[in-house]
Amino acid sequence: MAQHTLTVALAGNPNSGKTSVFNKLTGARQSVGNYPGITVDRKEGHFHWKGREVRVIDLPGTYSLTAASPEELIARNVILEEKPDLVINVIDASNLERNLYLTMQLMELGVNMILAMNMWDVTERRRLKTDLVELESILGLPTVKTVGSRGRGITDLKDAIVEHKGVHTSSPWVKGAPSPVKKAVNVLSAELACVNKQHCEWKAIKLLEGDSEVESQEDESIKEFANRLASHLETTRGISSGMLIARARYKFIEELIKQVVARPVSTSISRSDRIDAIVTNKYAGIPIFLVMMYLVFSFTFTLGEPLMGYMEQLFEFVGNTVSGFWPAGSDSMLRALIVEGVIGGVGGVLIFLPNIFLLFLAIALLEDSGYMARVAFIMDALMKKLGLHGKSFVPLLVGFGCTIPAILATRTLENRNDRFTTLMVAPLMSCGARFPIYMMIIPAFFPDAWRAPLVWMIYFTGIVLSIAVARFLRKRVFKGEETPFVMELPSYHLPTPVSILRHTWDRAGEYVKKAGTVILAISIVLWVLSSFPKKTEFSTGYDAQIAALEASVMPIETKTDSITTIENARQAEVFSHTITGRLGKFFEPAMKPLGFDWRVTTALLAATAAKEVFVSQMGVVFAVGEADEDSSTLREKLRENYTPLQGIAMMLFALISAPCVATIVATKKETESWKWAMIQLSGLTILAYIITLIVYQVGKLVI
Ligand code: GDP
Ligand code: MG
Repeated sequence: MAQHTLTVALAGNPNSGKTSVFNKLTGARQSVGNYPGITVDRKEGHFHWKGREVRVIDLPGTYSLTAASPEELIARNVILEEKPDLVINVIDASNLERNLYLTMQLMELGVNMILAMNMWDVTERRRLKTDLVELESILGLPTVKTVGSRGRGITDLKDAIVEHKGVHTSSPWVKGAPSPVKKAVNVLSAELACVNKQHCEWKAIKLLEGDSEVESQEDESIKEFANRLASHLETTRGISSGMLIARARYKFIEELIKQVVARPVSTSISRSDRIDAIVTNKYAGIPIFLVMMYLVFSFTFTLGEPLMGYMEQLFEFVGNTVSGFWPAGSDSMLRALIVEGVIGGVGGVLIFLPNIFLLFLAIALLEDSGYMARVAFIMDALMKKLGLHGKSFVPLLVGFGCTIPAILATRTLENRNDRFTTLMVAPLMSCGARFPIYMMIIPAFFPDAWRAPLVWMIYFTGIVLSIAVARFLRKRVFKGEETPFVMELPSYHLPTPVSILRHTWDRAGEYVKKAGTVILAISIVLWVLSSFPKKTEFSTGYDAQIAALEASVMPIETKTDSITTIENARQAEVFSHTITGRLGKFFEPAMKPLGFDWRVTTALLAATAAKEVFVSQMGVVFAVGEADEDSSTLREKLRENYTPLQGIAMMLFALISAPCVATIVATKKETESWKWAMIQLSGLTILAYIITLIVYQVGKLVI
């Protein structure tokens, strides 16, 4: 009798090598489609082995199995609903701690599972000794060593698949969880209706985690009971039940790793070690990091500057072309909306795409080569001296890209005090959205040679401030004992162009997407607020003055200068009549001591929606009410209207002040209270105010 087809699902973290293993297992026999109703790739393939037909489903790569993202929901729904005979958890064996978090959650589902210990070559190169016999006996799961990229271990994996006996997993961490958590899981799972004991336990865990999908399938009474248990846990332990469960999983993983992974004993000095001897040197480490940062910025400037010029010309051309669709001198509202609001706003942000791309490219290079891990290691020593947790610096480094993932990444810190300290200061790491602000201001005021050093200074200021504030918070607010931390240093490797480009493209793509959606919407709203009410009667006869000048006899330069002055005055009058103009005027007295006029003030206010908006709003502010269309670029206008010191003040304020709305929401979510979000918001704004005030006032005296 023919045996039925085995169905196998591949699960694993992104970049664990899942697709490589899938391709090696199935060869060319695969089909790609989408999951029903959703545009996430569904890849299926099959192979024959030892007389069995095996169907393989490649699940989306995820770090977790919550209902938070479509990928995670798909991964677990395929497992729960299609009931594959076997799950193969593809693990990056060189990164066990992170990868096992998903393993814990897969085990909770009570499936048959094999662990494919992928990237085994990397663990060998790094001389990480992983005791697989011990790992198998603790988890009760078979393991197979694989190297997906080269197909090593694939026949063993096929053997393991067809020979699998079928042992259902359970949630191993529950036993060692704090007893209130364990009790809550047990009490709740006893109340649930399900197919087997493990399924009950899984549902109980999900309900305690507040999983919306599982909640929606339960009765009101069960939901109420689960909520009561969860809030009881929360009041007795001081943190949410979801967080308690996440910690219990990590705790188990930590213990497991202690038993299974032996750190390499140095026998010979590898190339990585030789590099590390210099790069992580006690004295040279930090200076080298600072030099690296400097190189990154001079790279983004030297290569980015001409490209930015082209982008500027491109958007100017687009603006003029669109403008030309209307008869000359027309004051069409639509024309103004499109040219000033949309092209001025979104274009203003997109001009900096080349710089952003180069910045992210440089960061991806540093990350993929393994250097960023060294930075965290170097900072660890410094942070410890300051009474901070070394691991804090890992999420902070993420903040160079975007603050929100940095805040999410603080979850890796087990100690609440460390975690809160770190997420409160995360916005001080200068994120990618602030980069366009520097790119707009610095070239407007400073000569070539100063540019890279200035951005470097800004980033450096952010880092120093984050450390200083963190130290203050840890000593005064989030007091308490410290937890030790041992860091794993991955070995260096030459990053592959494909993965570098993919990382860069992902992030730059985010930037473009944001420009086309959020920034577009905000630009339109701000354009309306910056254009109305319209000013019709002026305090003086600007037109007459200009006409008189045109007719007069004087050197051509003096003439154009005088005309520009009058035009600027008229434009200022037009703008100050509008809603944002009035708002800016209202706040101007408070911002004046920082060197900000009402125009900068409106842009700073608007930038709380998203930092890039500072750039687009400055564009709108200087475009609205403009008389002639062959206008000078925004940077020229900045130069006409402000001093370099004011430029520095703007950058400083943008760096330190209240992060964008999305960050505040992320902080609220992660701390589970509005209180900390509001403290972060106001604290950083006050800090920005004080520092900018000092710099501007002192600067005025000195210069
Ligand atoms: P996925 O995101 O989990 O689907 O991972 P991919 O299969 O796309 O692999 C991510 C990267 O890791 C690719 O560059 C692969 O070539 C590489 N890779 C996959 N498996 C291994 C392995 O076992 N060893 C090494 N050194 N690299 C691997
Ligand atoms: Mg993949």
